Amino acid sequence: MIRLIDTHAHLLSDKYDNDREELLNELSFSMEAVIENASSVREFTGVMDLVNRYPFIYGAIGVHPEEVDGYDEDTLSLIRELQKDKRIVAVGEIGLDYYWVSDNKDLQEKVFRDQLELAMELDKPVVIHDREATEDIIKILKDYSGLKGEMHCFVGDRDEASFILDKGMYLGYGGILTFKNPGNMEDTLRYAPLDRILLETDSPYLSPVPMRGKRNRPDNVLYTAKRMAEIKELDTEEMIEILNSNARALYGLQQEA
Ligand SMILES: [Zn+2]
Repeated sequence: MIRLIDTHAHLLSDKYDNDREELLNELSFSMEAVIENASSVREFTGVMDLVNRYPFIYGAIGVHPEEVDGYDEDTLSLIRELQKDKRIVAVGEIGLDYYWVSDNKDLQEKVFRDQLELAMELDKPVVIHDREATEDIIKILKDYSGLKGEMHCFVGDRDEASFILDKGMYLGYGGILTFKNPGNMEDTLRYAPLDRILLETDSPYLSPVPMRGKRNRPDNVLYTAKRMAEIKELDTEEMIEILNSNARALYGLQQEA
């Protein structure tokens, strides 16, 4: 049985508080790798703990746009320090979010730019979160050439896709692709080259059909991978091999012998 990679999960979410260890044990059999994305500074210790205890878990450390309050130079130093661990494979998740809070756009932009610069300096990929902020994100990304990374849960249109692809970055596809109305996602997936797409869950959110409405978990990437295979007209197994190799390439995941 081919094992899966989920490039984006939040297993430290309180939605897993009752059965986290049990779930992690199950995932250790089905998953080649899961990238746990810190969603706040409070979670940094938890991410380090998970990557140290579970060989299939890798981490992304960064400040999410909804969590910029209290951010200062010490926060950036802490992120820089934790990035030295080779199991921390990305700066993430970072970006702009105008859906929840939009009265702090300047602070969001500063935190985003600081972390983009850190990623460039350390030559690490970034994981970018965009909610109702695409125009500003594109404007900011234009200032950074040679950036590596993933647009997480990409739902943009073909123009946005081509901007991201031209930058040399990857498009991350999650469970929304399996919904009855996946918006632009089918179109951009058809358009994107096979070597620039990634598979993710954003667990515990956005469960794919037939798990929609339930708590999501990293092994549900299988349902999204099946849909991606249909759209790309490949066998599911072939699709998963390609997605796994893309994830290994961007994040430098070591394949177990
Ligand atoms: Zn996320």
